[in-house]
Amino acid sequence: MHSKESRSYIAHTRLEAILETAVDAIISINSVGIIDTFNPAAEKLFGYSTDEVIGKNINILMPEPYSSKHDSYLKRYSTTKVKKIIGIGRDIVAKHRDGKTFPARLSVGEAVIDGKPIYIGIIHDISVRKQQEKEIKDHRDHLQSLVEQRTRQLSEANEELTRIAHVDGLTKLSNRRTFDETLQNEMQRSIRYKLPITLMMCDIDYFKQYNDAYGHVVGDECLIKIAGCLKDSFKRASDLATRYGGEEFAIILPHTNDKEAEQLSKTCIENIRKLKVPHSDSGVSKYVTISIGVATIIPDKTDDADLLIKAADEELYKAKKNGRNRIETVCLG
Ligand code: GH3
Ligand code: MG
Ligand code: MG
Repeated sequence: MHSKESRSYIAHTRLEAILETAVDAIISINSVGIIDTFNPAAEKLFGYSTDEVIGKNINILMPEPYSSKHDSYLKRYSTTKVKKIIGIGRDIVAKHRDGKTFPARLSVGEAVIDGKPIYIGIIHDISVRKQQEKEIKDHRDHLQSLVEQRTRQLSEANEELTRIAHVDGLTKLSNRRTFDETLQNEMQRSIRYKLPITLMMCDIDYFKQYNDAYGHVVGDECLIKIAGCLKDSFKRASDLATRYGGEEFAIILPHTNDKEAEQLSKTCIENIRKLKVPHSDSGVSKYVTISIGVATIIPDKTDDADLLIKAADEELYKAKKNGRNRIETVCLG
């Protein structure tokens, strides 16, 4: 059996050992914030020796604005007893003797000795954890921005693919695919609203001879010129000039009746004539000319796009047969 004195001595020594060997900083302060315990781990963490800090205000271990406010925190707690940190603990910013700040985890306990409160803080440096968290966050942000960038690039590439899939590479007019899609849609709209729709099939006259006379490259350049001229001949947003194939162009003219269509096709022929692209081997002119087959319809439910294409093709065939550099028109229904 130990005597009371020796039990007290053992308890005191054990407490000393705990303070001496604790890995975390242990600091106690009195009710007005004056430091009265500062263990070796605290010395190491804050860079102060125990002698330097005993009797000083705990706020020397904090950066602004916490440093200036700490006294009033303590005062408020002693009057209101509303616990903001005691028994709870939180992440704080601490200040080293050299002025540098570092993140730390602080947990605070309260005890009463001789009727006076003391506050015991255990402080654990969390710089490494915070740094790791920051690195993880930076890494995540970086990955996210990469994903966003790639997603953007992918969607731009997709848009470009869609555009390429709908445009003729040589003339930059809409291609056959766009023609098919648009004619289907416009026919449906015409049926729904009982409006006329016109299709023009244009074909360059004696183009085989043109290629033979000037070569394929000049033939391509001629196609580009004709395409540009056709496109410029139609002003309404709903008009669509397309390259139907080879040296054939198809023009979809929604809401266009046979009279308007005839006028527009005449303008087309005239505009091509004005281009004055020399064609030494044409059977009809000194310049490149086109023939146009025009078909107009106010479609009903049973009519489809093929009917209109077939009708315009027949008119084109007639225009070729009747001498080229001319228009033939038909109004269906
Ligand atoms: P027609 O007056 O009856 O229309 O006679 P054509 O010589 O124009 O008719 P044909 O269909 O016999 O010939 C069309 C020519 O168009 C044949 C082909 O070499 C040429 N062609 C088709 N596509 C292209 C192209 O992309 N570039 C070039 N340079 N020529 C093309
Ligand atoms: Mg042809
Ligand atoms: Mg031709």
